[in-house]
Order: sequence, then structure tokens, then C-alpha cells
Amino acid sequence: MMLEASQLQSATVLSTQLCIVGAGPAGISLALQFIGSGIDVILIAGGKAGHDEAAQALYAGEVADDALHSPLTEYRHRQLGGSSATWGGRCMPFDPIDFERRDFIAGSGWPIGHDDVAPYYPEANVLAEAGDFQYDAKKAVEGGMRPIAEGFNPVSFDNDRIERFSCPTDFGSRYRHRLAHAANIRVLLDAHAVEIRAGGEKVEAIVLRTLDGKEITVAAERHVIATGGIETARLLLASRSEAHPAGIGNAGDQVGRNYLCHIAGTYGELAFAPGTPVFHGYDRAWDGVYCRRRMALRPEIQREHGVGNVVMRLHHPRLPDPAHGRGILSAIYLAKPFISYEYSKRLHGGDAMTPGHVLRHGFNILREPFGVAGFLLNWVKVRTLAARKFPSLIVAPRNNRFTLDIHAEQVPNLDSRVTLGAGLDIFGKPQARVDWRYKPKDIETVRVALELLRRDAAATGRASLDFDPEGVAEAMLRDGAYGGHHIGTARMGPNPDTGVVDRECRVFGTDNLYVSGSAIFPTSSQANPTLTIVAFSLRLAAHLKREFLPKRSEIRTSAIKGAAA
Ligand SMILES: Cc1cc2nc3c(=O)[nH]c(=O)nc-3n(C[C@H](O)[C@H](O)[C@H](O)COP(=O)(O)OP(=O)(O)OC[C@H]3O[C@@H](n4cnc5c(N)ncnc54)[C@H](O)[C@@H]3O)c2cc1C
Repeated sequence: MMLEASQLQSATVLSTQLCIVGAGPAGISLALQFIGSGIDVILIAGGKAGHDEAAQALYAGEVADDALHSPLTEYRHRQLGGSSATWGGRCMPFDPIDFERRDFIAGSGWPIGHDDVAPYYPEANVLAEAGDFQYDAKKAVEGGMRPIAEGFNPVSFDNDRIERFSCPTDFGSRYRHRLAHAANIRVLLDAHAVEIRAGGEKVEAIVLRTLDGKEITVAAERHVIATGGIETARLLLASRSEAHPAGIGNAGDQVGRNYLCHIAGTYGELAFAPGTPVFHGYDRAWDGVYCRRRMALRPEIQREHGVGNVVMRLHHPRLPDPAHGRGILSAIYLAKPFISYEYSKRLHGGDAMTPGHVLRHGFNILREPFGVAGFLLNWVKVRTLAARKFPSLIVAPRNNRFTLDIHAEQVPNLDSRVTLGAGLDIFGKPQARVDWRYKPKDIETVRVALELLRRDAAATGRASLDFDPEGVAEAMLRDGAYGGHHIGTARMGPNPDTGVVDRECRVFGTDNLYVSGSAIFPTSSQANPTLTIVAFSLRLAAHLKREFLPKRSEIRTSAIKGAAA
């Protein structure tokens, strides 16, 4: 059943076995696992079935430095499906090294290993509609994927690990009917959690408010917070009581700390000899899933150089600079007003659109009008109208000189934080305040990877990399923290002094409250988070189902009663 919370009377108390707060990929994947399980579930969407301004405004908050972090109403979507309403669909699993304690990365090390989550990745791939769980370029596509360039194998990098692309699947629209028709699931739209009510270790209820002013309470045996990396910290911190004076799960002052995104940007110039065939686009798997190669810094090289995890892809030149001479890139640059903030931020950069600039871009378009028109028509076909969308802009530079699109791990940092700000939302609850920070090691990881690629590329004799090591920091921070990845604010740890949740995602200091989502990741990996978020939701579902099983002693007692009757 799916219903608007505003249809309920104020002060309604709903009872259930499992209450999931948040209906993005994390919450929906979790709820789906309970269909037909006999366990009663309430899923709270925190918004409507589609975008709603009033619900979205509840995400407003404060940012310490707006050059380093986007406003909190951007890159997050308060609705059924959460941010999957707009995500790019790039999927890849975390690497085994991401879970290890690495002496050269302070704060690294999960209390579980890659093996603990690995069994859940294939099903996560299915839910994300990213096809087979096959991330090897030699096997993902029949006959193997095309190489970047014949003989171009920089040895410090694994060039056979790939990324796969979801449709991109909006979990809200894809799974809403399945959830709405499940007899044991109630989806509550437009219900906003304002407090986790706990007396001691037992969480008793989640307090909800509706936009028309009603208060509803959901009392469950077990509760899961799946509200995204920023809102999860806000909700835990805002739920203060005598038993939890600093907020729930915050006895060790860990909630909201170690807030990580990714370090990302485009930089350098990788030049292949003119005329060398270079392939930096997508191959398609048997089921139509788009797959792409990337260069991943090998784990043994990360250890040898004491740096984090990082990947690079070949990229088109930066759009704002008309010197690239490509009409297609200029057309996309000029289309800025029609592209959402989230996608235009990195595509267009912060450069001002001066009349001189616009003229030069216009000239680029005039130089290849048929090429631009053909590209745009094809784009409408493969992107706008297609059910499985072409993932991104792929334009080859005229001169075989590519920039590098870099996506790197960020090192945990206690001072990078989500806290409660001074502003209040319409329910009178403190808004979130984000103070995102980076460490020198974050920049060092990228610089070292570029140095290694420069050496390795030269050794192949096929390409040369040109970059200025002094410019790495500026290039990686030009657009600030990578937008939609909100990680680490309720990190998994061995104890409450260094973590917020335990290895089963249970919040320390409680016996029936769990977190699902990237908030629990103690380290960020190089990988985009969503596939791993879904895998962890599946793992949590398996754990919760075991917990809901009647204990052996209860089964024995009821069997004896049955026999006596
Ligand atoms: C532009 C963009 C591109 C992206 N591209 C990629 C990509 O290519 N690959 C990738 O892996 N990831 C990508 N991401 C990130 C991806 O969208 C997130 O990792 C994913 O959506 C997180 O899922 P979640 O369920 O944990 O949180 P969310 O998707 O944020 O969902 C949170 C849910 O909680 C609800 N909620 C929030 N607060 C409350 C409250 N107080 N009470 C009740 N409900 C509440 C919301 O309404 C929503 O339903 C992208 C994000 C953006 C914005």
C-alpha cells in the first residue's frame, strides 16, 4: 500500500515490525527484500512520488565554504527514489584494498572485509539494472572490450577494470508499483522524520511530521535510517534526550565527523601520436549495458607509494575554453541555461560567459554545423528518448590530446563535518551545517598517480602526458567536493570511540536502530557509492531477517503449547 501521510489523522500511532526511514536506493533495496517475508514493513519516503519544492526545501542548510561545497538543496532529492531521480548510473564495486587498514591512510580499515559484502554485489547489480556482475574488460563484452589504444598499457594501472552503467534507474519509479502492491509493505509519502525517540538502548519510535502540520508516530521493533549521508547525521544529532544527550550513536563524538566526498576533476593532457586510433567511449554488453574502461591505480602501487585509491578516464577538453575548436563542445557549453545545476557545474566550470567567449564558441559551431546538428539529433535518440541512456558526452579531440577525468579517494578527516547549524526548518528542527575539508594526502594521491602515468605512458612509446604538478590542487578543487557522494558521517567501526555503527550496521548504544547508506562507509574508495550502498542494504536485509526469526526457545515453547492443546 502507498499512502500520503497527510491523509492520516494527527497523533496517529502506527505499529510495525520494521520501519525504514528514507526511500532512496538504500531504503528501497532494503524494503524490496521483505516482500512476501511475512514481516510487516513501513517505508517512509520523506517526500512525494516526484519532485516537490516544499519537501525539497527541507534539505536547506548551511555550508561553511561555498567554494568547496554545493548548497545542500542541490545534489540531493527529497522524494521517493531519493537522488536516484537524477544520478548518472555509474556502477562499480569497491576494491578489496578499500576495506584494509592501511598505515599510510589514517582512519582507514573497516571492521569487515571485502568478502563480507562481495556475495551481495551480483544482486545489487540486478537492482541497479547494470547487467551482469562482470567488471573485467576481457569478459564483460563478447570478444572483449576495445583497448584504449593498441600497445598503450601503463603498468602502474589496471586498464581492464571497467565501470558499467545503470539505465540510469530511478529506484522510485522503477520499484514503486512492486512496493505498492506488496501486502506487507506500507509506503508513507510526504512523511518527514524529525526525531528518533529512544529511552536508553531501545529505540521506541520515529516521530514524523507532514507538510500540513500533522504529527505521526511509527513504533517498530527495528528501525533503519536510510536518509542519505548528510540527513542521517542530522537526524542522529538532532535526536537528543536524557539517555542520549549528544544525539543517538554519538557517545564517542563520531556522528557527522569524517565527512567524505571524492576528489575529482579534469587535468593534464595525454597526447597520442596523430593518427593513432584511440577509443575512449563505451562498448555494450550482450544486454545493452554500456561499459567503459578506466585506468585504476593498482593496489600494490598504492601501497608502495603510500597513496589512496584513484581512477582516471580519457576525457574531452574542458568545455569553457573555446580553443578546443569543437562545435559540439561549444554547443553544449552554450546550452548551459538548459542543463541542471548538478550536471552543468562540472561541465561548464565557474568561468564567466563573456560576450567574447560566446562569439568564439559560436564560431566553433559555425565551423562544423552539420557535425553539430548530427550529434544533437543522435543525442536525442540515444539519450533523451532511449530507455537505457547513453551515459555521457564522448567527443574525441581533433588533435588526439585528451584531458584526464580523475576520481580519487579522500582520506578520513575528523574535522570534515556535518553538524547542526543555527537555522531551523519549518518544523523548528535545526538544519544541517556542512564543513567539508580535504587533506594534503588527497591531492598527493592524484599528483603521484599523474607522475606514474607520465612515466608509464612514455614507456609504452604510444603517448605522453603533460601536466604541472603545482597545478594539481587547483584543478582538483576547482569545483570543490564531488557533488552527490556523501560518505562517512555514521562510519562503521569496532567501537563507539571510533565508529557510529558496528559491523552489522547497528548504531552503537542502541539495540534496534540501524543505518543503511554511504554514511556507514569509513573510507570512500575510488568508486561511486551507489552499487555498494545497495549491496550493504541487501546484507542488512539478510541480517534483519535472521533477527526476526523466532528464537529456537520460542519455537520450542509454541510447539509444546500446540501439543498440549
Ligand atoms: C547528479 C548526481 C549524479 C550521481 N551520479 C552517480 C553515479 O553515477 N553513480 C553513483 O554510484 N552514484 C551517483 N550519485 C549518488 C547517488 O545518487 C547516491 O549515492 C544515492 O542516491 C544514495 O542513495 P540513498 O538511498 O542512500 O540516499 P538518497 O538517494 O539521498 O535517498 C534518501 C531518501 O531519504 C529521504 N529522506 C531524507 N530525509 C528524510 C527525513 N528526515 N525523513 C524521511 N525521509 C527522508 C529522501 O526523501 C529520500 O527518499 C549521483 C548523485 C547525484 C545528485
